[in-house]
Amino acid sequence: MEPAWNDILTPPRPKSSKTILVAGGAGFLGSHLCELLIRKGHRVVCIDNFSTGRPENVRHLRSSGAFTLLRHDVVDPIDLKVDEIYNLACPASPPHYQADPIHTTKTSVLGALNLLENAARYNARILQASTSEVYGDPNVHPQVESYWGNVNPFGPRSCYDEGKRCAETLFHDFSRIRGVEIKIVRIFNTYGPRMRPDDGRVISNFIVQALRDEDITIHGDGSQTRSFCFVDDLVDGFLSMMASPASLTGPVNLGNPVEFTVAELAGQVLALTGSRSRIVHRPLPTDDPRQRRPDISLAMHELGWQPRVVLAEGLKRTIAYFEAVLAAERRKLTEVA
Ligand code: NAD
Ligand code: UDP
Repeated sequence: MEPAWNDILTPPRPKSSKTILVAGGAGFLGSHLCELLIRKGHRVVCIDNFSTGRPENVRHLRSSGAFTLLRHDVVDPIDLKVDEIYNLACPASPPHYQADPIHTTKTSVLGALNLLENAARYNARILQASTSEVYGDPNVHPQVESYWGNVNPFGPRSCYDEGKRCAETLFHDFSRIRGVEIKIVRIFNTYGPRMRPDDGRVISNFIVQALRDEDITIHGDGSQTRSFCFVDDLVDGFLSMMASPASLTGPVNLGNPVEFTVAELAGQVLALTGSRSRIVHRPLPTDDPRQRRPDISLAMHELGWQPRVVLAEGLKRTIAYFEAVLAAERRKLTEVA
């Protein structure tokens, strides 16, 4: 399922080769980022506490000779001499970040602080994976970076939303007070291969339910909207942002601006999988944002970036991935039986 290492690498490392720390690099987005950075000829040090990420996501990178995987919780201080840092360490799926909300806030706030201190120590440029959740349940649509948001400070999503907002504050203050070169991207719902079958976010849930012919669980009436970005597009945006002039600190929205209702998404997944699943409705979770769509004018103008993969194409690739994962799970069960 994973590409053989020879398919990914390895031309001789270019002179511009850097040592790059990816915090949360064994997760869904982080593993794609590590892979792309190694493809570009960099050395990558990945740190992760494996709470939602998995060593298997990056196992294929180990034989490159350019990849190091360390178990580390970003809540604890870190001292690693690197040229650049990407901070992706934080559970991103609502059921996962709500499972231990205190640790989620600590991860965002203390994690940002520890990584910023490390960046200051070694004069490293640092990028923060922030989120569209900083806009909360937005009253401005589509969301522009200048919008301050509409966030409940003590609801079930607050550990994530407010943690990420505080991390943005720390990034800006380390830039102003300590001269650290910072980059902030606000990521809108991103999906693709290497999401966990039990991730709990809407695209992986619907695809896994459809492939198992289980009920498709729409929260509420399904009229709430999201705008879904394929992972390959997003990680390209990460690299463009990191390479941008020092004056561009962000925040910069990264996402696909084509908006769908959750009911429309369920329809597309059913059509593409040919599933016999029924649609059922479940209560809408507290503070679930009603609508979300990024205004990506800034990313287009400053980074020359925009997504290329349309939803139908990204869904096909993600469905193929989950078909392989579920088939492997079935094989394991048969072997045991
Ligand atoms: P993910 O849960 O797959 O990845 C998070 C990774 O961080 C995992 O490998 C996890 O084990 C690790 N991690 C969590 N807490 C940690 C800690 N305390 N110390 C060290 N490692 C820790 O989620 P993802 O979708 O890959 O998200 C990656 C980042 O991007 C997160 O910061 C998330 O907030 C942000 N983001 C993602 C999306 C999206 O749609 N995928 C949207 C907005 C923001
Ligand atoms: N959702 C849904 N069924 C599911 C999982 C999620 O209808 O099985 C809804 C969820 O309530 C939200 C939208 O899909 O309205 C996107 O949810 P997700 O957890 O993927 O991301 P977020 O809410 O953080 O944008």
